[in-house]
Amino acid sequence: MIYKRENILRPLSFDDFIGQEKVKEKLKLLVEASKKRNEPLDHILFSGPPGLGKTSMAQIVANELGKNIKITSGPTLDKKGDLAGILSSLEEGDILFIDEIHRLNPAVEETLYPAMEDFKIDILIGKGKSSRSIRLDIPRFTLIGATTKAGMLTSPLLSRFGLILNFDFYDEKSLSKIIKRNVNLFSLEITDEAALEIAKRSRGTPRIANMIVKRVVDYATVRGEKNITVDIALKALEFFEIDKNGLSPIDKKYLSILLKYGGKPVGLNTIASALSENKNTIEEIIEPYLLREGFIEKTPRGRLITEKAIEILKGA
Ligand code: ADP
Repeated sequence: MIYKRENILRPLSFDDFIGQEKVKEKLKLLVEASKKRNEPLDHILFSGPPGLGKTSMAQIVANELGKNIKITSGPTLDKKGDLAGILSSLEEGDILFIDEIHRLNPAVEETLYPAMEDFKIDILIGKGKSSRSIRLDIPRFTLIGATTKAGMLTSPLLSRFGLILNFDFYDEKSLSKIIKRNVNLFSLEITDEAALEIAKRSRGTPRIANMIVKRVVDYATVRGEKNITVDIALKALEFFEIDKNGLSPIDKKYLSILLKYGGKPVGLNTIASALSENKNTIEEIIEPYLLREGFIEKTPRGRLITEKAIEILKGA
């Protein structure tokens, strides 16, 4: 079988999936119960920043159940008919994964309510005056929704999930394990120390760790190295200009805006217009890591830069 390079890095079973122990143990239990009772799994919501393994975990759940999975996303499902089509194509116990579920259009979301609760959908047949709505049975399926912002879900949708699981950023130890596993998948070796150097730059996020692993593997391959030592890793990281604190150019720009205000709180609107970024992207993608690493603080009057970040910017 030919794998695309990014696909070989996707974990396929609970055992392959490193970290997120709390999420994993709950899902394992649910999967076991569902198999024993021969009942579909309850609907589950995964919440957390991008790149932490929500899609991978949904695929693992399907694999472990021995069921199919269909993957779609809130913004793609813009017509009621699209969702009805997908739902009626599922088989009993299959998983429907909807990424960015907080971005579903309201009409589509309403179609989901009876589907999730009673495994029924309402469809309109005929046109104009003679049109009428009929209720159709659909196979008993499991919805796994993923969101970077559980707070943006409407309460009717939220209340239809049987379990909400939060994905956290990974610690350096778990990331190092993921990095070692992934380097080995490219038939190379890496020392513990070198894996740790990559982990430190990965913003607690496996997707970023994988991106860096691929670049370091490229570098080692061109040099004909089979074992990635810390020396090779550092040279590769320097070559690709990967920041040693895991800060991306946009993070640095964000922090320098706060710095410009000389330690006074800065409002989200001001930051958004200075960065030409939308507020959601800032709150969901940029800020969670900066907050977690203690580079910024959120106050009622705005965002504040910390001493730690000021030191780093000075050293840059
Ligand atoms: P999300 O859906 O949360 O954005 P993904 O499931 O798409 O995240 O994961 C992003 C990438 O990171 C995938 O390519 C996957 O291979 C990798 N990944 C995520 N979590 C893990 C993990 N725990 N172990 C190994 N690889 C992981």
